[in-house]
Amino acid sequence: MSRDTGFVLRGGALHAEGVALGRIAQAVGTPTYVYSTGALRAAARRFREALAPIPRKSLAFAVKANPSLAVLSVLRGEGFGADIVSGGELTAALAAGMAAEDIVYSGVGKTPEELAQALRAGVGHVNLEGEREGDALAATAVRMGVEATAMLRINPDVDAGTHAKITTGTSDSKFGVAFADAIGIFDRLARRPGLTLHGVAVHIGSQIMDLKPLETAYRRIGELVAALRARGHVITHVDLGGGLGVDYHDGPDGDVAAYGEMVARVTHDWDVTLMFEPGRYIAAHAGVLLTRVLWVKPGEECPFVVIDAGMNDLARPALYDAWHEFAAVAPNGATMRAHVVGPVCESSDRFAKGRLIDRVREGDLAVLRDAGAYGASMASCYNSRALAAEVMVEGDRFAVIAPRIDAAAIRPQSMPDWLEARRLGHAA
Ligand SMILES: *Cc1c(COP(=O)(O)O)cnc(C)c1O
Repeated sequence: MSRDTGFVLRGGALHAEGVALGRIAQAVGTPTYVYSTGALRAAARRFREALAPIPRKSLAFAVKANPSLAVLSVLRGEGFGADIVSGGELTAALAAGMAAEDIVYSGVGKTPEELAQALRAGVGHVNLEGEREGDALAATAVRMGVEATAMLRINPDVDAGTHAKITTGTSDSKFGVAFADAIGIFDRLARRPGLTLHGVAVHIGSQIMDLKPLETAYRRIGELVAALRARGHVITHVDLGGGLGVDYHDGPDGDVAAYGEMVARVTHDWDVTLMFEPGRYIAAHAGVLLTRVLWVKPGEECPFVVIDAGMNDLARPALYDAWHEFAAVAPNGATMRAHVVGPVCESSDRFAKGRLIDRVREGDLAVLRDAGAYGASMASCYNSRALAAEVMVEGDRFAVIAPRIDAAAIRPQSMPDWLEARRLGHAA
């Protein structure tokens, strides 16, 4: 069974492990993200177990999927490091107790300050996304009197077969360096003082269910490693990225066991430490967005269920037409066809269109399922809405791991002095 049981119906009420979601709503309010520690751990272990045939490996959780310190800390306990894409995520990973050498720093737009921050922290692997970035990292390392350890991210020109907005490995994508340019760039960067280039990296996209494109990309990387070694380069690491998808309905997730077998088969003679950067696969099922029904109002074809969570809290449906299952916290067996929408003043603020859902009434609690990855991490204060609270559950206890924060507190405002003066002048 690929799905675990972090969220279960017990006595007619949906629980996160041993805690009734109604209890959390009462204590913390809504909308609130609720994470199951057990579900996180189970997914982390499934992933690791699937890679059992691979002798030398390191696992790094993609922090952008869920940067909560409590989540990172649980995953650190499961032996995961961190894949980060900003200085802010570096700070989060270190605060969660990740060792700097277990951190991989990806991202196409690292600033000079962020490169220096990474070197100061002693980040284990900086994944370079372009030659100029490599030049800058080397120069910064020399200036600081340290040696940067880095890998070159390759764009293998493989279509991951996923949503266009989460495809990252085709030739028109901004990520990595073109396969055809990789050897030349590697040759030049490897000669740079201050830079130890110890491997190559690839990440072709997210929510990938078909392993074929991943296999194609990995085979290309294998050829590149052989070509680089033939030129005298010492390659000790290959980062295979993340991207394995999950099922957002009731079906099976991306086949992690088949993934492990495929990787073992393709890489058996590479003689490197393989690195993996799963995000969604680890966290998606481990979270729900707990929400309350505000209004049920008539619509032309079916009613609108207006909930207190919006696209600012969970952006994936508006961004990618993503599907999140909507379920009542206390289902009574009846169903209704409805549009499920949020309060934000945008037509794209819609979670379900004419969908058959549990019958709900005003005031009822409900959840949007599988919101543990790319949920809270993508939230904004659009419409001057608060950032949702986040709660972690373990067994029969729960804790607020991030409080609800008003927009005004997140973005303190100040008045230009001329406006202030005019107001004062007016009053005088
Ligand atoms: C986003 C990202 C990941 C994680 O992707 P998932 O689909 O969540 O597994 C891994 N590596 C890099 C470089 C990324 O940008």
